Amino acid sequence: MHELSVATSLMNIIVESAKADGALRVLKVNLVVGNMAGIVADSLKDCFDTVKEGSIADKAELVIEEVKATALCVECGGKFEVEQNMFNCPKCGEVVLPSGGDDLYIKNMEVE
Ligand SMILES: [Zn+2]
Repeated sequence: MHELSVATSLMNIIVESAKADGALRVLKVNLVVGNMAGIVADSLKDCFDTVKEGSIADKAELVIEEVKATALCVECGGKFEVEQNMFNCPKCGEVVLPSGGDDLYIKNMEVE
């Protein structure tokens, strides 16, 4: 249950940051998740709905924005969105290593 521990630590950050802002309630949380972060978005939402119970974020909506890793082929200069750790360039066959896609952070949140 990786997503549950992620949801729990997110909730700690959300509650701390809302309190720091003097907010009474968290309405919406916009989260950025990379496709290489090892997070299943639907599963994370379910876990979020569980851990938010009884907190000041108990009515908060979790919006997940998924971003993809990109790879730049040094051989032919092609740029691709990728979903694997390593792959062969579809244009020239060169082995390419992607970068990014491991994002996991709160972009912003709406409070009142
Ligand atoms: Zn290439």
